[in-house]
Amino acid sequence: MDDATDLRNEIRKDYRTGRFVIIAPDRDRRPEDFFQSEKEPKIGIKCPFDPGNESMTTEIMRIGNPWKIRVVENRYPEFSPDIPLEEGSGKLEYISGYGYNEVLIDTPIHNLAFDKLKNEDMRLWLDALIEREADLYTKNYIKYVQIFKNSGPEAGESMVHPHTQIMAWSEIIGSIKDEIDRIKDYKDRYNKCLYEDLGELEENRILLETDRMIAVAPYASRFAGESMIVPKRHVSYLQDLTVEEKDDFVNTLKMILKVNRNLFGDLSYNLCFHDIKSEPDFHLHLEIYPRLSIPAGVEFGQDVFVNQLPPEVYTETFAQKLKEVT
Ligand SMILES: [Zn+2]
Ligand SMILES: [Zn+2]
Repeated sequence: MDDATDLRNEIRKDYRTGRFVIIAPDRDRRPEDFFQSEKEPKIGIKCPFDPGNESMTTEIMRIGNPWKIRVVENRYPEFSPDIPLEEGSGKLEYISGYGYNEVLIDTPIHNLAFDKLKNEDMRLWLDALIEREADLYTKNYIKYVQIFKNSGPEAGESMVHPHTQIMAWSEIIGSIKDEIDRIKDYKDRYNKCLYEDLGELEENRILLETDRMIAVAPYASRFAGESMIVPKRHVSYLQDLTVEEKDDFVNTLKMILKVNRNLFGDLSYNLCFHDIKSEPDFHLHLEIYPRLSIPAGVEFGQDVFVNQLPPEVYTETFAQKLKEVT
């Protein structure tokens, strides 16, 4: 870890979003010290996502008989199609909570961690997400479909049973808006897609590379052990991935999760897809945020994250662990 001691503390600007991050290497803490011990399984609660309890949820689709994947309505939705779409643009602005929230049950097996799914089952998971995303984009007034996973208590998981959430928004705001704007700025300035320069921008932080995918530890990672999977070809929307790209994507994701478990133990993490149908300039990617520390005053008060594991150190450690697990 000699390189780690060469790294100085610095404020980095994220080329993807314009957000700032403080990289503050903790010299007393090696990557292995972020290790999380096995979590106690919760028992005794009737799980609405288990086979036999299907009547507890409203089903939208399923794959397999008996089912391997189900998509159901979120029982505690932030958005609903029953709320009339309206906006307030006075001194206090708002958009009504029109939209959709769905939950994809990743597996019938209650205690099977998502990263332990077989590659072929993870492929079904991806196919189901793509199918639901495409359908939600056909609904009235839907401009953005967000797909994410909260895995583990520190990642905001509400149910232990592995699941993925799909939210359909009537407006393009937040991170996806910032990223669209920056991709457009980059194109105006350099006449190419920002992600075509990824190999150069992330030269020292490449985790994995396949024929069709590249995975990096982003320059301005907000989280210790953060990574991002990006198709090499310009693709803005999940449905446009080819069969080979989908296979490669799943293999890459599996490998990152496997190395992360080896390195960080029973970690909590979020997966966030960034892709959008209506912006051909956008470049699809998946962001993976291990949740190994608790955001506090700097994060909430200043909207700047402090990362104690520089992405360069994570990259080095990842390479060592990759050799061990393959
Ligand atoms: Zn369950
Ligand atoms: Zn691109």
